[in-house]
Amino acid sequence: MNSSEYDIAVIGGGIIGLATAMRLSQEYPRYRVAVLEKEREVALHQTGHNSGVIHAGIYYAPGSQKANFCSTGGTLLRQFCDERGIEYEMCGKLIVAIDDEEVPRLEELFRRGTENGAQGLEMVGPERLREIEPHAAGVQAIFSPNTGIIDYTRVARAYAIEMRENGADLLTSTPVRGIDARDGTHYLMTPRGEIRAKRLINCAGLHADSVARMLGVDVGVRIIPFRGEYFSIRPERAHLVKGLIYPVPDPSLPFLGVHFTKRIGGSVEAGPNAVLALAREGYAKTRFDLGDTLGHLGYAGFWRMSLRFWKTGFQEQYRSLVKSKFVRSLQTLVPEVRAEDLYEPGAGVRAQAVDRRGGLLQDFSIAETPNAIHVLNAPSPGATSSLSISRYIVDLASESFELAA
Ligand SMILES: Cc1cc2nc3c(=O)[nH]c(=O)nc-3n(C[C@H](O)[C@H](O)[C@H](O)COP(=O)(O)OP(=O)(O)OC[C@H]3O[C@@H](n4cnc5c(N)ncnc54)[C@H](O)[C@@H]3O)c2cc1C
Repeated sequence: MNSSEYDIAVIGGGIIGLATAMRLSQEYPRYRVAVLEKEREVALHQTGHNSGVIHAGIYYAPGSQKANFCSTGGTLLRQFCDERGIEYEMCGKLIVAIDDEEVPRLEELFRRGTENGAQGLEMVGPERLREIEPHAAGVQAIFSPNTGIIDYTRVARAYAIEMRENGADLLTSTPVRGIDARDGTHYLMTPRGEIRAKRLINCAGLHADSVARMLGVDVGVRIIPFRGEYFSIRPERAHLVKGLIYPVPDPSLPFLGVHFTKRIGGSVEAGPNAVLALAREGYAKTRFDLGDTLGHLGYAGFWRMSLRFWKTGFQEQYRSLVKSKFVRSLQTLVPEVRAEDLYEPGAGVRAQAVDRRGGLLQDFSIAETPNAIHVLNAPSPGATSSLSISRYIVDLASESFELAA
């Protein structure tokens, strides 16, 4: 085998691609594995632009992959970090019902969380709520002590180090621009020339559907990017939040609602919202990509989604443009927060798969096509679940790629 020939190529050096390559190279050292990442460094997209929360697995439909992968993933992640000295903090989280109307949905979340095995959940009234978060307001809340915070960029870099130690290659600045599949080999077109791989694992996040299309396969979904905008809270006001304070989410959407997040390092962020982005990497409101936008407009699922969720979409756009509206959402959870407490706006972009009927996929979605595995939907809690998702992918690869240990 020459230097640009691999048994398995993983496309995408985010937390899931790296976790997958780490596990593959550990379990199957006889195979040549490479991660191809288009950026100059790993973890520059979703993995490096998220809220940094280790989720406990409360929200997800019992029996779903999100529910199954999140709680085991969180445990595996903490074990990995303990062994390598990577900092995390189990600071706990409150999900707060701001009025009586939200209480039945909160109770349903409590039932789900308990069924999913989220440990230590406690339903608390206003007094206990104030003990945990003295500046939060609400009629009832779920306290989850088993929720924490971490820096996922650091975790992803640790996965990258480990996979290289196991003998896998990390090829950064290597965008895959086209794939030709013939005679049982994939010929990957990249600026560093043609790279050959027998099997592919597509972990391209915001571009996962485009990579699948390069193979000429129809995976039945399109990735629609949703920007999540947030602000930092000024350090002198960060005492308003001790841990994580979340609202009761809208159950029809896969987003958790604008919340407060303590970060590793002690700063506090407020957000993110969920606004349709006009580019897959549309971190700025003004970022527009003609190809991405035309792609959405030509997709029936996009129009059906827009019809179904037009009201929520409009409200989110409005809240994105009018800061006072954003602040009012935050004040429902922490009334003392003021507009002048928010600074340093930032954003991440979520890769959300939308099916042809306009449905936003609620669960993770991992599909197989001949000699390839595609991670088509891995939004939150994908980072928490990276080690259990990678375990699932490697088991799948072991079977369908017929790998021998
Ligand atoms: C705003 C926000 C908040 C979130 N909060 C949380 C949280 O608190 N907790 C949690 O568990 N999860 C959270 N998530 C979800 C989590 O970040 C994702 O589940 C996870 O990062 C997905 O990892 P990934 O490797 O699939 O994708 P990515 O990190 O996006 O990686 C994909 C990689 O593929 C590369 N790539 C794409 N196309 C190509 C190509 N053609 N050739 C080569 N490389 C390519 C990209 O450059 C990128 O590096 C959040 C996400 C967002 C956006």
